[in-house]
Amino acid sequence: MVLVSPSPTTLSHTATIRSGLIKVRNYCNLFETRGKERRIAVKIGVIGIQGAVDEHVKALKSCLAERGERGEVVIIKHHGIVSTCDAIVIPGGESTTIGRLIEREGIADELREAAEAGIPILGTCAGMILLAKEGDEAVKRTGQLLLGLMDVRVKRNAFGRQRESFEAPLKLSIFDEPFPGVFIRAPCITHVAAGVDVLARLGAEDRIVAARQGNIIALAFHPELTTDRRIHHYFIAQC
Ligand code: GLN
Repeated sequence: MVLVSPSPTTLSHTATIRSGLIKVRNYCNLFETRGKERRIAVKIGVIGIQGAVDEHVKALKSCLAERGERGEVVIIKHHGIVSTCDAIVIPGGESTTIGRLIEREGIADELREAAEAGIPILGTCAGMILLAKEGDEAVKRTGQLLLGLMDVRVKRNAFGRQRESFEAPLKLSIFDEPFPGVFIRAPCITHVAAGVDVLARLGAEDRIVAARQGNIIALAFHPELTTDRRIHHYFIAQC
Protein backbone atom coordinates (compact mmCIF):
# COMPACT_ATOMS: atom_id res chain seq x y z
CA MET A 1 0.00 0.00 0.00
CA VAL A 2 1.58 3.28 -1.07
CA LEU A 3 0.62 6.56 0.47
CA VAL A 4 1.11 9.49 -1.88
CA SER A 5 1.04 13.17 -0.98
CA PRO A 6 -2.32 14.90 -1.00
CA SER A 7 -2.85 17.02 -4.08
CA PRO A 8 -3.13 20.79 -3.49
CA THR A 9 -6.87 20.62 -3.99
CA THR A 10 -7.31 17.86 -1.43
CA LEU A 11 -8.81 18.92 1.88
CA SER A 12 -6.35 18.94 4.73
CA HIS A 13 -8.03 16.02 6.47
CA THR A 14 -7.98 13.78 3.46
CA ALA A 15 -5.29 12.13 1.43
CA THR A 16 -5.00 10.05 -1.67
CA ILE A 17 -4.41 6.35 -1.42
CA ARG A 18 -3.05 4.29 -4.30
CA SER A 19 -4.78 1.11 -3.41
CA GLY A 20 -6.88 -0.42 -0.73
CA LEU A 21 -8.31 1.23 2.32
CA ILE A 22 -6.44 3.05 5.04
CA LYS A 23 -7.28 5.58 7.70
CA VAL A 24 -5.43 8.76 7.00
CA ARG A 25 -4.53 10.83 10.02
CA ASN A 26 -7.47 9.11 11.60
CA TYR A 27 -9.85 11.39 9.80
CA CYS A 28 -11.18 10.00 6.56
CA ASN A 29 -11.73 6.69 4.87
CA LEU A 30 -10.92 7.18 1.24
CA PHE A 31 -10.34 5.03 -1.73
CA GLU A 32 -8.83 5.95 -5.06
CA THR A 33 -10.21 4.63 -8.30
CA ARG A 34 -8.20 5.62 -11.37
CA GLY A 35 -7.05 8.90 -9.89
CA LYS A 36 -10.47 9.86 -8.56
CA GLU A 37 -10.99 9.99 -4.82
CA ARG A 38 -14.12 8.34 -3.58
CA ARG A 39 -15.29 8.15 -0.03
CA ILE A 40 -16.29 4.67 0.98
CA ALA A 41 -17.69 5.44 4.39
CA VAL A 42 -18.27 8.51 6.45
CA LYS A 43 -18.24 8.71 10.23
CA ILE A 44 -20.18 11.52 11.84
CA GLY A 45 -19.85 12.24 15.56
CA VAL A 46 -22.53 13.93 17.66
CA ILE A 47 -21.32 15.40 20.94
CA GLY A 48 -23.50 13.47 23.37
CA ILE A 49 -22.91 15.13 26.70
CA GLN A 50 -26.35 16.71 27.09
CA GLY A 51 -29.27 18.06 25.04
CA ALA A 52 -30.92 17.15 21.72
CA VAL A 53 -28.48 14.36 20.84
CA ASP A 54 -30.65 11.46 19.65
CA GLU A 55 -32.63 13.67 17.29
CA HIS A 56 -29.44 14.62 15.43
CA VAL A 57 -28.32 10.98 15.32
CA LYS A 58 -31.67 9.97 13.84
CA ALA A 59 -31.67 12.81 11.31
CA LEU A 60 -28.10 12.07 10.19
CA LYS A 61 -28.74 8.32 9.88
CA SER A 62 -31.85 8.84 7.79
CA CYS A 63 -29.98 11.30 5.55
CA LEU A 64 -27.14 8.83 5.00
CA ALA A 65 -29.70 6.18 4.08
CA GLU A 66 -31.53 8.54 1.72
CA ARG A 67 -28.25 9.42 0.03
CA GLY A 68 -27.34 5.76 -0.29
CA GLU A 69 -24.08 6.55 1.53
CA ARG A 70 -22.26 4.08 3.69
CA GLY A 71 -21.48 5.55 7.03
CA GLU A 72 -22.02 5.59 10.74
CA VAL A 73 -23.15 8.10 13.31
CA VAL A 74 -21.58 7.89 16.76
CA ILE A 75 -22.32 9.64 20.02
CA ILE A 76 -19.24 11.24 21.56
CA LYS A 77 -19.06 11.32 25.33
CA HIS A 78 -15.35 10.83 25.84
CA HIS A 79 -11.92 11.84 24.67
CA GLY A 80 -10.41 9.96 21.71
CA ILE A 81 -13.30 9.79 19.25
CA VAL A 82 -13.44 13.25 17.66
CA SER A 83 -10.27 12.64 15.65
CA THR A 84 -11.78 9.50 14.10
CA CYS A 85 -14.75 11.42 12.70
CA ASP A 86 -15.22 13.10 9.32
CA ALA A 87 -17.78 15.58 10.65
CA ILE A 88 -19.03 16.68 14.07
CA VAL A 89 -22.34 18.03 15.38
CA ILE A 90 -22.56 20.01 18.61
CA PRO A 91 -26.24 19.88 19.59
CA GLY A 92 -28.51 22.23 21.49
CA GLY A 93 -28.98 21.95 25.22
CA GLU A 94 -27.40 24.08 27.89
CA SER A 95 -24.21 25.67 26.63
CA THR A 96 -22.79 26.13 30.14
CA THR A 97 -23.22 22.43 30.94
CA ILE A 98 -21.99 21.16 27.58
CA GLY A 99 -19.01 23.53 27.75
CA ARG A 100 -18.03 22.46 31.24
CA LEU A 101 -18.24 18.77 30.42
CA ILE A 102 -16.46 18.85 27.05
CA GLU A 103 -13.63 20.66 28.74
CA ARG A 104 -13.50 18.19 31.60
CA GLU A 105 -13.54 15.24 29.18
CA GLY A 106 -10.77 16.72 27.02
CA ILE A 107 -13.15 17.00 24.05
CA ALA A 108 -12.87 20.79 23.76
CA ASP A 109 -9.25 20.71 22.58
CA GLU A 110 -10.04 17.86 20.21
CA LEU A 111 -12.79 19.96 18.65
CA ARG A 112 -10.36 22.85 18.18
CA GLU A 113 -7.93 20.50 16.43
CA ALA A 114 -10.68 19.06 14.23
CA ALA A 115 -11.81 22.57 13.23
CA GLU A 116 -8.23 23.47 12.39
CA ALA A 117 -7.93 20.32 10.26
CA GLY A 118 -10.94 21.41 8.20
CA ILE A 119 -13.43 18.91 9.59
CA PRO A 120 -17.02 20.17 9.05
CA ILE A 121 -18.61 21.15 12.38
CA LEU A 122 -22.28 22.03 12.84
CA GLY A 123 -23.38 23.75 16.05
CA THR A 124 -27.08 24.14 16.77
CA CYS A 125 -28.44 26.51 19.44
CA ALA A 126 -26.25 25.86 22.50
CA GLY A 127 -23.79 24.38 19.99
CA MET A 128 -23.75 27.71 18.16
CA ILE A 129 -22.92 29.52 21.40
CA LEU A 130 -20.00 27.16 21.99
CA LEU A 131 -18.59 27.75 18.50
CA ALA A 132 -18.35 31.52 19.01
CA LYS A 133 -15.23 33.55 19.77
CA GLU A 134 -17.13 36.04 21.89
CA GLY A 135 -20.26 36.18 24.02
CA ASP A 136 -22.51 38.89 25.40
CA GLU A 137 -22.00 40.51 28.81
CA ALA A 138 -23.61 37.60 30.66
CA VAL A 139 -21.32 35.11 28.95
CA LYS A 140 -18.30 37.25 29.79
CA ARG A 141 -19.39 37.63 33.39
CA THR A 142 -19.84 33.91 33.98
CA GLY A 143 -16.70 33.01 32.04
CA GLN A 144 -18.40 30.01 30.43
CA LEU A 145 -16.37 28.07 27.89
CA LEU A 146 -16.46 29.21 24.27
CA LEU A 147 -14.50 27.16 21.77
CA GLY A 148 -13.72 30.25 19.71
CA LEU A 149 -13.98 28.52 16.34
CA MET A 150 -16.02 31.23 14.63
CA ASP A 151 -15.42 34.98 14.42
CA VAL A 152 -18.83 35.91 15.78
CA ARG A 153 -20.30 37.40 18.95
CA VAL A 154 -23.34 35.61 20.36
CA LYS A 155 -26.12 36.59 22.72
CA ARG A 156 -27.72 33.85 24.79
CA ASN A 157 -31.52 33.68 25.17
CA ALA A 158 -31.79 36.49 22.64
CA PHE A 159 -35.51 36.15 21.98
CA GLY A 160 -36.71 36.83 25.51
CA ARG A 161 -38.79 34.88 27.97
CA GLN A 162 -42.19 35.50 26.41
CA ARG A 163 -41.03 33.92 23.18
CA GLU A 164 -38.73 31.31 24.68
CA SER A 165 -39.89 28.79 22.11
CA PHE A 166 -41.43 29.48 18.75
CA GLU A 167 -41.39 28.37 15.14
CA ALA A 168 -40.75 30.66 12.21
CA PRO A 169 -40.16 30.06 8.52
CA LEU A 170 -36.62 31.10 7.66
CA LYS A 171 -35.19 32.27 4.40
CA LEU A 172 -31.79 30.60 4.30
CA SER A 173 -29.47 31.77 1.55
CA ILE A 174 -28.53 28.15 0.78
CA PHE A 175 -32.09 27.01 -0.04
CA ASP A 176 -34.81 28.26 -2.37
CA GLU A 177 -37.72 27.38 -0.09
CA PRO A 178 -38.15 28.60 3.52
CA PHE A 179 -36.89 26.31 6.29
CA PRO A 180 -39.04 25.65 9.40
CA GLY A 181 -36.98 27.21 12.18
CA VAL A 182 -37.62 25.77 15.65
CA PHE A 183 -36.30 28.20 18.27
CA ILE A 184 -35.99 27.13 21.90
CA ARG A 185 -34.54 29.74 24.26
CA ALA A 186 -32.43 30.54 21.26
CA PRO A 187 -29.33 32.66 20.94
CA CYS A 188 -28.55 34.97 18.05
CA ILE A 189 -25.37 36.34 16.52
CA THR A 190 -24.91 40.03 17.19
CA HIS A 191 -21.68 40.57 15.27
CA VAL A 192 -19.84 38.79 12.47
CA ALA A 193 -16.29 39.46 11.33
CA ALA A 194 -15.21 39.52 7.69
CA GLY A 195 -15.03 35.98 6.38
CA VAL A 196 -18.25 34.88 8.05
CA ASP A 197 -21.23 34.36 5.71
CA VAL A 198 -24.62 35.18 7.16
CA LEU A 199 -27.04 32.45 6.03
CA ALA A 200 -30.26 33.70 7.65
CA ARG A 201 -31.75 36.60 9.60
CA LEU A 202 -34.98 36.74 11.53
CA GLY A 203 -37.60 39.27 12.57
CA ALA A 204 -37.95 43.01 12.38
CA GLU A 205 -34.57 43.38 14.02
CA ASP A 206 -32.93 41.19 11.39
CA ARG A 207 -31.16 39.09 13.97
CA ILE A 208 -28.59 36.70 12.55
CA VAL A 209 -29.69 33.12 13.20
CA ALA A 210 -27.48 31.14 10.83
CA ALA A 211 -23.92 31.67 9.67
CA ARG A 212 -21.02 29.83 8.15
CA GLN A 213 -17.27 30.37 8.29
CA GLY A 214 -15.42 27.86 6.14
CA ASN A 215 -16.00 24.41 7.59
CA ILE A 216 -17.99 25.71 10.58
CA ILE A 217 -21.77 26.19 10.47
CA ALA A 218 -23.76 27.75 13.32
CA LEU A 219 -27.55 27.72 13.64
CA ALA A 220 -29.59 29.36 16.41
CA PHE A 221 -32.44 26.91 15.80
CA HIS A 222 -33.00 23.13 15.89
CA PRO A 223 -33.14 21.52 12.42
CA GLU A 224 -33.13 18.09 14.05
CA LEU A 225 -36.57 18.78 15.58
CA THR A 226 -38.29 19.08 12.22
CA THR A 227 -38.83 16.49 9.52
CA ASP A 228 -37.12 18.76 7.01
CA ARG A 229 -33.70 17.19 6.43
CA ARG A 230 -32.22 19.76 4.04
CA ILE A 231 -29.75 21.13 6.58
CA HIS A 232 -28.46 17.69 7.53
CA HIS A 233 -28.10 16.82 3.86
CA TYR A 234 -26.26 20.09 3.25
CA PHE A 235 -23.94 19.30 6.17
CA ILE A 236 -23.22 15.72 5.07
CA ALA A 237 -22.44 17.02 1.59
CA GLN A 238 -19.57 19.06 3.12
CA CYS A 239 -17.71 15.92 4.29
N1 GLN B 1 -30.44 28.84 26.13
C1 GLN B 1 -29.48 27.78 25.96
C2 GLN B 1 -28.08 28.25 26.28
O1 GLN B 1 -27.87 29.42 26.44
C3 GLN B 1 -29.54 27.23 24.55
C4 GLN B 1 -30.89 26.59 24.31
C5 GLN B 1 -30.89 25.51 23.30
O2 GLN B 1 -29.86 24.94 22.95
N2 GLN B 1 -32.07 25.16 22.86
O3 GLN B 1 -27.21 27.48 26.39
